[in-house]
Amino acid sequence: MAKVLIIGAGGVGQVVAHKCAQVPEVFSEIVLASRTESKCKKIAEQISRPIKTAQIDAMDVAATVRLIRAEQPQLVLNVALPYQDLAIMDACLETGVDYLDTANYEPPDEAKFSYSWQWEYHERFRERGIMALLGSGFDPGVTNVFTAHARKHHFDSIEELDIIDCNAGDHGQPFATNFNPEINIREVTAKGRFYEAGAWKETDPLSVVEEFDFPEGIGPKKIYLMYHEELESLVHHMPEIKKARFWMTFSDNYLKHLEVLQNVGMTRIDPVLFEGKEIVPLQFLKALLPDPASLGPLTKGRTCIGCVVNGSKDGKPKRYYVYNICDHEEAYREVKSQAISYTTGVPAMIGAKMMLEGKWRGEGVFNMEQFDPDPFMQALNQHGLPWNETFL
Ligand code: NDP
Repeated sequence: MAKVLIIGAGGVGQVVAHKCAQVPEVFSEIVLASRTESKCKKIAEQISRPIKTAQIDAMDVAATVRLIRAEQPQLVLNVALPYQDLAIMDACLETGVDYLDTANYEPPDEAKFSYSWQWEYHERFRERGIMALLGSGFDPGVTNVFTAHARKHHFDSIEELDIIDCNAGDHGQPFATNFNPEINIREVTAKGRFYEAGAWKETDPLSVVEEFDFPEGIGPKKIYLMYHEELESLVHHMPEIKKARFWMTFSDNYLKHLEVLQNVGMTRIDPVLFEGKEIVPLQFLKALLPDPASLGPLTKGRTCIGCVVNGSKDGKPKRYYVYNICDHEEAYREVKSQAISYTTGVPAMIGAKMMLEGKWRGEGVFNMEQFDPDPFMQALNQHGLPWNETFL
C-alpha cells in the first residue's frame, strides 16, 4: 500500500493515472500534478477512485520539493517531458523519495538524448538509499525487458538485437504525431545511429530502409533505422551484443509532410525572430498540430512493438521474436487514450508496482534490463499488454 505522485498530465499521465487506480492494493493513494492543473482535474473526473490534483512547474526544484514534502509519496512517477528529468531527480534526492521515468534526459536547446546525465546520479541515489528506475515505458522499457527475457530463457549469448516499432494505426488526420509533437519530431529528424562491433555508426536521418513482415495479419511494412535510447543502455549492460539497431515504421504520408516541414525550416529548434519576438519554429508547429490526446477517439488499428534476437543456445544458432500487439480502439475504450500512450503508461505503472512490491529493488540508478524480467513479463499479461514469442 503506497502513495504515489504522478507528474505530467498528458497522454501518458492519463494512462498511468487510470492504470494505478485499477490496482488499489498497491497504489492506495494517487496524487496527479502537472503544469496545468485543469488537465489533472479532467483526468481525475474520469476515474471512480479519488485522485488528488496539484499544480507544479517541475523545472522548479524547490516547488517540487515542497509538493513532495506536503504529500509524502513513496515514489514519484515522472511522465512529464524529458526536459524535467534532472530537476525531478534533484527533488527526489533532496526528499529521499524513489523515482521512475519513461524517457531519458534531453536538454531543451539540443536535440540530443543520452543516459549519461542520469547515470551520473547513481552514486548520489545510492548514498541516499533511494532508487531510480529509468525508461519504464514501452520503448525504452518493455523492449529492454523483452531482451532480458530472451537472454534469460532462450539464449546463452545474444549477438544481434533489432527492436522494431510498428504503428499500423490510422488517425485519419493529414499530419499528426501520436505523442508530444516536439519530442517526436526531434527524435525522427535526428541522425540514425546503430551499434556494431564495439562502435556507434551514424546514418543520415531515415536513410536506411528495410521491410519487415509483421505478425497476426498486420503484414509487411517498410521500417526505418533510427537511434533510440534503449540501445545505449542495452549494449552497456549486455556487452556481448555485437550489433543493435532500432527500427520504426512511418507512413509515406507522414514522411511526405515531415520532409516539407523540414525543408521550410519548421522543425528547427533554434529561436528565430518573428515580428520582433523570438519563436522556436518546432514549438510553434506543436501549437498548430492536433493535440495527441485528441487522436484517441479517432485512431483505429494496432501497434506491434517487439525485439528480434539472433544468438545461440547450446551451441546452435537461433533467431527469436517477442512482441506485443495493442489495439488503439480497445485502449481508448479502457482508459480514453490511444495505444501509443497506453503502451507507455501501462509499463510505467508496472515498473512502479515492481518497485513498491520490492520485486525490483536497488539503491542507485537502474535501467530495466538490470532486473529479473519474469515478474514484469507476468504483469504485462495481467495488465493489458500480453506478449507473444516465436522462433523465426
Ligand atoms: P504530453 O506532451 O502529452 O504530456 C506532457 C505533460 O507534461 C503535459 O501535461 C505537460 O503539461 C506536462 N509538463 C510539461 N512541462 C512541465 C513542467 N515543467 N512541469 C510540470 N509538468 C510539465 O507528452 P506524453 O504524455 O505523450 O509523454 C510523456 C512522456 O512520456 C515524455 O517524456 C515522452 O518522451 C515519454 N514517452 C515515452 C515512451 C516510451 O515508450 N518510453 C513513448 C511515448 C512517450 P502542459 O499540459 O501544461 O503542457
